[in-house]
Amino acid sequence: MTDASPKVPFTTNNAGIPVESDEHSLTVGDTGPILLQDHYLIEKMAQFNRERVPERVVHAKGSGAYGVFEVTNDVSQFTKADLFQPGKRTEMLARFSTVAGEQGSPDTWRDPRGFALKFYTEQGNYDLVGNNTPVFFVRDPIKFQDFIRSQKRRPDSGVRDHDMQWDFWTLSPESAHMVTWLMGDRGIPKTYRHMNGYSSHTYMWINGGGERFWVKYHMKTDQGIDHLTQADADALAGTDGDVHRRDLYDSIASGNAPSWTMNVQVMPFEDAPDYRFNPFDLTKVWPHGDYPLIEVGRMTLNKNPEDFFVHIEQAAFEPSNMVPGIGPSPDKMLLGRLFSYPDTHRYRIGPNYAQLPPNRPHSRVSSYAKDGPMRYEPAHVGAVYAPNSYGGPAADVERYGDPAGWATAGEMVREAYKLHREDDDFGQAGTQVRQVLDDAARDRLVSNISGHLADGVSRPVLNRAIQYWRNVDKTLGDRVAAKFNGG
Ligand code: NDP
Repeated sequence: MTDASPKVPFTTNNAGIPVESDEHSLTVGDTGPILLQDHYLIEKMAQFNRERVPERVVHAKGSGAYGVFEVTNDVSQFTKADLFQPGKRTEMLARFSTVAGEQGSPDTWRDPRGFALKFYTEQGNYDLVGNNTPVFFVRDPIKFQDFIRSQKRRPDSGVRDHDMQWDFWTLSPESAHMVTWLMGDRGIPKTYRHMNGYSSHTYMWINGGGERFWVKYHMKTDQGIDHLTQADADALAGTDGDVHRRDLYDSIASGNAPSWTMNVQVMPFEDAPDYRFNPFDLTKVWPHGDYPLIEVGRMTLNKNPEDFFVHIEQAAFEPSNMVPGIGPSPDKMLLGRLFSYPDTHRYRIGPNYAQLPPNRPHSRVSSYAKDGPMRYEPAHVGAVYAPNSYGGPAADVERYGDPAGWATAGEMVREAYKLHREDDDFGQAGTQVRQVLDDAARDRLVSNISGHLADGVSRPVLNRAIQYWRNVDKTLGDRVAAKFNGG
């Protein structure tokens, strides 16, 4: 080498070729026209125009990190899933998010938080795509799109509108349990580290003997659950909109790795038809007294993404990623999501999204999928069709055929779930208000609800909202009404 080594690495274009300047375009004289042959300038402009993928319609603003999941208890009697076997350690990725706001929205708006986990197991990726709430606003996927539109922006002015939100909620009484959560302290977590995660949905677990169980997951924060008051959250929204993103990143960067303890509630398969609540209704919990928490393991987030876009923006979580030993349940919202998540990734990132670093399984992939835009990993299967006589992979029902199903029969119908003994829309919300919250938390709940309702909600919707809260709890409804001259 004759030339002195450069002090900093030299710039190249995307093909790795050294470039002459990042400051001056190629022109004919200093005032002359820019030349089309300045392909580096053109590459910079064209690449810039394509820097974004469409943001997620929901859960657009998120933050995440890599980590590890360690099993701390023996739950092999309930599932044969590789990642839950005693002593197992599995690498993973987590992404936390707000729901309704866009990419640049403040982290501290009152909103549920997404709690999405991807476990890189030896049997492929297992994704647990939950929220920081054990319940949800609706129980049928045909209402989801309408629900989200009511929480987002008006078609005329482009602003968010509390009237739309309360209009939808009060016309959808199944939302009452979730709205009680949202308006309570847990509606604004202190940080992503200080919130729990829940599968919300019920899933199936299958053990080595083929026995089936229904399960709900609870990820309990080891940092202690904590919240922001409305006033503190409002102030932070104006001064530090990225406060939760920064907190997660800085904690991990400084060696303060946050962790969560995974627990499950396990219901014997046969209990479901006669349980007092429909165990597949996403607006209901299973009271702990009926099905106590059983510890499974601990997840620790200890590695920040080296590139936010590559690892977090392009991360694709999908509840349809279930490994042997885990299956779906008749929860209609879950069944809808099994389609919609991979579908959104194909649209948003592209059909080969599963080959990108955050999504790529750490186990062998031998799928017959082929081609499509931006595919870079060869299929490695030796043939492009199945069955074949050239040594391509073969599906194996003997080894991998889980009895992950349930018996069902009947006419095709559009019907609500059959009501179980104690099913109604307001009961569990009322239990939360009366038995879980203390006086100070109830005061904050009244203040949060009335503050939200005071912001642009029309009189007919307000009247319905007061009745909605009286249905949850008479005293609570009366207290909200008192804030509006008796309702
Ligand atoms: P428990 O007394 O056994 O459980 C109450 C649970 O409520 C706690 O374990 C805690 O869940 C959660 N909680 C505590 N403070 C708040 C709060 N400010 N806002 C929301 N949740 C809070 O009672 P049950 O299991 O019989 O449930 C009673 C009610 O508690 C339910 O109707 C539901 O609203 C709520 N709840 C129930 C959960 C469940 O899975 N059974 C989970 C969460 C809430 P955690 O330990 O998960 O933080």
